[in-house]
Amino acid sequence: MAPDHHLAASAAGDGPAEIRVPGTVYLVGAGPGDPGLLTRRGAEALAAADVVVYDRLADSSMLALAPPDAELVYVGKQAAVHAVPQDRINELLAEHALRGRCVVRLKGGDPFVFGRGGEEATHLRERAVPFVVVPGVSSAVAVPAYAGIPVTDRRYASSLAIITGHEDPTRGQSRLDWRGIAHGADTLVFVMGLTHLTLIAERLVAEGRAAGTPAAVIERGTTPGQRVVTGTLLDIAARVTAAGLHPPALVVVGEVVRLREQLAWFDSQPLAGRRVLVPRVRQRPSELVRLLKAAGAETCEVPVLRAATLPAAADLLARLAAADWLVFASPACLGALLEQLAGMGRDVRALGAARLGALGPATAAQLGRCGLHVDYAPAEAAGFAAGFPQPEGRGVLFVGEAGGEGHAVDGLVARGAAAAELAVLELATDEHAPLPPLDDFDAVAFPSSATVRRFLEAYPAGPVAGQLTASIGPSTTATARGLGVRLDCEAAHPTSASLAHLVAAHLGGTATAIGG
Ligand code: SAH
Repeated sequence: MAPDHHLAASAAGDGPAEIRVPGTVYLVGAGPGDPGLLTRRGAEALAAADVVVYDRLADSSMLALAPPDAELVYVGKQAAVHAVPQDRINELLAEHALRGRCVVRLKGGDPFVFGRGGEEATHLRERAVPFVVVPGVSSAVAVPAYAGIPVTDRRYASSLAIITGHEDPTRGQSRLDWRGIAHGADTLVFVMGLTHLTLIAERLVAEGRAAGTPAAVIERGTTPGQRVVTGTLLDIAARVTAAGLHPPALVVVGEVVRLREQLAWFDSQPLAGRRVLVPRVRQRPSELVRLLKAAGAETCEVPVLRAATLPAAADLLARLAAADWLVFASPACLGALLEQLAGMGRDVRALGAARLGALGPATAAQLGRCGLHVDYAPAEAAGFAAGFPQPEGRGVLFVGEAGGEGHAVDGLVARGAAAAELAVLELATDEHAPLPPLDDFDAVAFPSSATVRRFLEAYPAGPVAGQLTASIGPSTTATARGLGVRLDCEAAHPTSASLAHLVAAHLGGTATAIGG
């Protein structure tokens, strides 16, 4: 019996049906690679999934949006290993749904654009399993866009064809109408076209498309590993072979390819194609990582940390009551304190009349969501102590992570406050998350002394030869030198922005674009 979607419609009325209908299959487009191109509805479906059945994805980080106990079932193709046959996938989806589970079928790009989503939907309809289609951003338009190629443009192209390049285009071997394709649209996008690229280009020319027509091949589009090769129908295959491109890759043919010369944007960012390792000691999102990503870098934070709430201190209530100020180091710390209070049968009222501070905007926003007014929250954690309003003689309690906010506390003590730490969270390395090989990275950026120590725990042999190592400032540099860690450069100012700038200045300027 199909569940009634209207009964589940969300109170906010923001969509046709709330995502959480047990027994339903959500055919979700994951987008082409950049996890930011997953739709909001796709993210909602993942967050509600009991089972995620997924293909090979250009970036699999979005699987983390599923609940930790969701079952993840990989059915994609891996190099030589054959994929799970399509009829088995169809049946798998139906079986899970008929057991009353909320099933997400996650596919690259859009599920109905060369995604076999139509076949899966047909099978589900035959088995009377309800399904919802969540369209995705198709690689056919998004990958050219990230390469600076608009698939249509009033000046160059007013039609677009999306074609499978999977079929051998040799005469007599293909069901495609190659004459029609060669002349039927201004821009041709071939998915799965890398293997047959030579034959595709030859066939288009044989059917009368000009040999000088511009063409581009884009590998791993929209990801930090994006590579682009351009040429013409005559030489594109040779150029692609010379550059050694691998799938997933997409072929664009047409005058619009010329626009890349002016419009390339993604792979001309300063850190495009560069990988930076950022050791971490805190769980909250790193400003440095955000800035490096904004400059085009692929970043990896290691090790992956897991937060656990500590047992409540015996004098917790007394310390809260005595404080003039309570300062929260992160959203997770607020959650941990509330959890400790709940364990004692208490709630947010135990915070009493203390004024409230937050170490940064995300923490301030979380306090706001709990209905708590924030009296002080600087835009950057680094300036916390310096901007603190009238600290002299005040009792300031920092609610933070074990071994956490020493510098902010010291800064307030120096300004005459009676500041102390209250550790509510402990961070432990998640042993289920393997460390990536260090030589995968072009640079290691150290945002604090503590991260130098954490890095050495993870990689006792220290940085590898040729890898850039950058420090945020003098005290981090001193720590690194003391521990024998080679450091190549130090930021002009001890801020995340200055450190990101430094990394970009040293690594930037190497374009990943190949060919003309
Ligand atoms: N449903 C998908 C297409 C699936 S076919 C969509 O709408 O995008 C798989 C093909 O898509 C690959 O062989 C490749 O040609 C193309 N493709 C998918 N992701 C890509 C990416 N990040 N970069 C380049 N091509 C990609």
